[in-house]
Amino acid sequence: MPLRLHLVFACALLASHAEAAAPAFSTRPNVIVVVADTLRPDALGWVAGRNATPALDALAREGRRFPAAVSPVPLTLPAHTSLFTGLVPRRHGVRDNGHVLSPRVPTLAEALKRAGYATGAVVSGYPLRALFGLDRGFERYDDALTSEQGQWRDRPAAETTAAALTFVRAHRANAPARPFFLFVHYYDAHDPYVPPPALRRPGARGAYDGEVAAVDAAVADLRRGLHALGADANLLTVFTADHGEALGEHGEATHGFFVYDSTTVVPLVVHWPGKLKPGASDAAARLIDVTPTLLDLLGLPRFPGVDGVSLRTLLEGRSQVVPPAYVESVQPWLGFGWAPLRALRTADAKLIEAPRPEFYDLARDARETRDRAAERPADVARLRGLLREVESRSTVASAGAADAEVLESLRALGYVGGGAVASEPPAGLADPKDRVALKAQLVSAENALQSGDVAGALRAFDAALSQEPDNRYALLRSGVALARLERWREAVTRLERAVRADATQAEARYELADALTAVGDLPRAAQEWMDVVRLQPRRAAAWSNLGGVLFRRSDPRAAERALARAVELEPRNDIFVENLSEVRYALAQSEARAGRRDEARRLLAQALSAEPQLRRRALLDALLAPLVP
Ligand SMILES: [Zn+2]
Repeated sequence: MPLRLHLVFACALLASHAEAAAPAFSTRPNVIVVVADTLRPDALGWVAGRNATPALDALAREGRRFPAAVSPVPLTLPAHTSLFTGLVPRRHGVRDNGHVLSPRVPTLAEALKRAGYATGAVVSGYPLRALFGLDRGFERYDDALTSEQGQWRDRPAAETTAAALTFVRAHRANAPARPFFLFVHYYDAHDPYVPPPALRRPGARGAYDGEVAAVDAAVADLRRGLHALGADANLLTVFTADHGEALGEHGEATHGFFVYDSTTVVPLVVHWPGKLKPGASDAAARLIDVTPTLLDLLGLPRFPGVDGVSLRTLLEGRSQVVPPAYVESVQPWLGFGWAPLRALRTADAKLIEAPRPEFYDLARDARETRDRAAERPADVARLRGLLREVESRSTVASAGAADAEVLESLRALGYVGGGAVASEPPAGLADPKDRVALKAQLVSAENALQSGDVAGALRAFDAALSQEPDNRYALLRSGVALARLERWREAVTRLERAVRADATQAEARYELADALTAVGDLPRAAQEWMDVVRLQPRRAAAWSNLGGVLFRRSDPRAAERALARAVELEPRNDIFVENLSEVRYALAQSEARAGRRDEARRLLAQALSAEPQLRRRALLDALLAPLVP
């Protein structure tokens, strides 16, 4: 369903910048950042020659191209947040999908908007929906995904291009004197791989390569459309990916778990005809360098204290030493309860910090097949020193830290919880590479759950828990399975354990709140729903469910506030609108009963204007009939 989200909490920060005078921008180029989600460089013709990607090959040929740039994290939302802030995830605080970007962290879109740019984004997958906060600074953030049977449907590349061109067309019509900044996100290469049949390529990875071909065709249409609209005369384009895809390497099917190059090396192209000479560089440029580079190329103030650097010198064809890349995945820890992974990668070597560290000589062993940690202790120590240096930098925001304004509004509704931030992993956790078999078991249990074999999934998750009783993934997903089977009390017990393992796990809290609601434990359900909105303040369904519980607890005033927040966030959601109107109708009745006729009339008018069919009921109600407008 198409959603227009109201930027409730981000506005304060934007407002403080709004007064700054916009500099002259008549000569500034239009800027487009195109991100192909889940794109391995070797799926591109210009990198490996095994796949025909003519549009992306042309873009690369005409631009400065880096076939082996490095993403700081193989997860969609954290990687995009790094791309647009210049910070590594441990510093911007968005370390997993579902985390919410703090308003304290400056973004590229904000900086460009402040400089006079018209800013727009078109995103195509759930992890980038506006509620997670990456929309800050974008005047238009199109995350209008549709859902089918409760599952979000990713936007196909052709529709993404059409939406991007709609933004440019509207901009040309309304504000052609302003330059524009547009972020275009293609999600097709993310699993499941279902390319248009004509684009499917032969071989084991033919479906994946076919999805990349679909993105290539959409980029061709985007460039044609921009040209037809006259928007490409002075256009600076960045093309990159948020992360790669393992495709079975290192025992990983997709991405997010390990930090090997198969999921963390990405292509990067900076294309600015007439300004930057075409050429290739084997430097290990980093996603975190993109925002500092763009600010530098556009002559805008740099963000102080970020991890990325401007690549301008390299782009101008001169030599530049790019600092080594810091890479992490906390998914093994946050998702499973195993040790998190961090890596330090130079152009030719890589250290992976794990319970058993790994060292790879990338110059001789690009596929990271032979761990040389034991034979290269001096190199291990050197890279470890560089890794510690990055980790000693102070964080700008922390995962799970509560927004003060949100906390205040929740306390007004009776919230008594705290603002727990993610706990640091203790020593002695399992090494993720020793858990590949158990992870495969969990993936197959998850597949059973997704395909509707709930009982089979529960058996498989229980089998995993018998091996590892505190496995976070098995706790959460078996709790979901129990809930689907309507074994609510067991679901509560299971999900409580998942929440105890990680207090910042919004999905576990959401499922626990739902189960507590189902068993009728309304006081605890209300607290738990409030914990969900503390972690994800713009999650409309949680506000709506909170309102429902408060109403059942005979607190219609608080229920009205929570439901009004849900409607504010998703004004077109019929269920939220109907529930809010019902609560206002009930409040009108009690106000009328208490003799406060003006207040009753106001509430009734609000209810009837949103939900006209309530008029009939009101006219039959002796108390309310005289107050019907
Ligand atoms: Zn992604």
